[in-house]
Amino acid sequence: MEKIKMTTPLVEMDGDEMTRVLWQQIKDELLLPYIDLKTEYYDLGLPEREKTRDQVTIDSAEATKKYGVAVKCATITPNAQRVEEYKLTEMWKSPNGTIRAILDGTVFRAPIMVKGISPVVKTWKEPITIARHAYGDVYKGTEYRVPGPGKAELVFTDESGKEQFRQTVYDFECAGVLQGQYNKDSSISSFARSCFQYAIDTKQDLWFATKDTISKKYDHTFKDIFQEIYDAEYKAKFEELGITYFYTLIDDAVARVVRSKGGFIWACKNYDGDVMSDMVSTAFGSLAMMTSVLVSPDGKYEYEAAHGTVTRHYYKYLKGEETSTNPVATLFAWSGALRKRGELDGNADLMTFADKLEAATIATIEGGVMTKDLVGLWEGETPAKGVTSLEFLRAIKANLEKSL
Ligand code: NAD
Repeated sequence: MEKIKMTTPLVEMDGDEMTRVLWQQIKDELLLPYIDLKTEYYDLGLPEREKTRDQVTIDSAEATKKYGVAVKCATITPNAQRVEEYKLTEMWKSPNGTIRAILDGTVFRAPIMVKGISPVVKTWKEPITIARHAYGDVYKGTEYRVPGPGKAELVFTDESGKEQFRQTVYDFECAGVLQGQYNKDSSISSFARSCFQYAIDTKQDLWFATKDTISKKYDHTFKDIFQEIYDAEYKAKFEELGITYFYTLIDDAVARVVRSKGGFIWACKNYDGDVMSDMVSTAFGSLAMMTSVLVSPDGKYEYEAAHGTVTRHYYKYLKGEETSTNPVATLFAWSGALRKRGELDGNADLMTFADKLEAATIATIEGGVMTKDLVGLWEGETPAKGVTSLEFLRAIKANLEKSL
């Protein structure tokens, strides 16, 4: 069989620990035999980040801007213990944070659903994709522990030095707490555009919610910016595709999500997204079955798994043990990126291959063959067989070959 040709390279971002091992296995077993894989390779493994003083991360993000589609392996975000372990000269920043800042993107997380592993919420029949605005609000807040009686004020001085606004926040009669938060129109607009763009890409409805009835300036601005951008830039396209943009209050959204059947994108402010993405991913089953894609407002894509480098398994692997690490989310990062590359290049063969690879993966699990993390969640009729990562990839390969 002739291998599928590619015209434009994918930006390939390699990573760390167990996911780095899976990365190579996925390529060897499921990609290289079938695709004339064209990638521009960046090694974001911690040793290379140390060696290049993290320049490699920046370069990989710039390459994503140039080519438009990247696929990323999970990477270590160093903490004090990692600085010791890897003898680092600096506690390098999170690669995901760096890439997100350069692409000005929003992260969309969606569960991979299979028959036999059902969501805790029994009405959910289709994935719920969460988009989190990962900028500002409480994450960039300024806080103060008020020691005793006194007055707290909110003051804004414009760049010429003129005071434009002053209002008492609270006249403290005792000790308390105080917090200042901000966000920027530019960031909210980018977030909105990434969400509308991704809704169009995936042909799903978009929901957005804030607490604008209570927060009449702060949250209301989010609501207004979304509405203005929708009306001016996306409404016509949404109508053409038959999808909707739906705004409601956050409490109403939570209630509706739980009663929904899924199949939409839920855009959340930073804190809501932090909390709700964990709620939604846990309710859908497993972090190992959650994909993640970073989408920039001008339509650049970086695909990855939502989980980390699975350190615990890596230490076992180093001792020579075969592990049963779940490669599905990493595999779907590859298929997602290949499909998008195919779409942008008009390469139908690449798109079909991505579909078949995903179908083979799902069919393997639905046939009862899976990694051990899924065995406990399994409710299918055939008894579950827990296998190693490599056995699982080979079972997928056998299914894939039937369909090619
Ligand atoms: P983790 O996602 O690696 O593991 C969390 C838990 O889920 C562990 O119990 C693990 O065994 C289980 N798990 C996760 N993925 C699995 C899979 N594919 N198969 C089987 N079990 C799986 O997160 P962690 O342990 O908090 O972090 C480990 C490292 O990963 C850290 O260095 C962290 O900085 C990094 N990390 C990277 C990313 C990223 O690159 N996007 C995200 C999160 C964490």
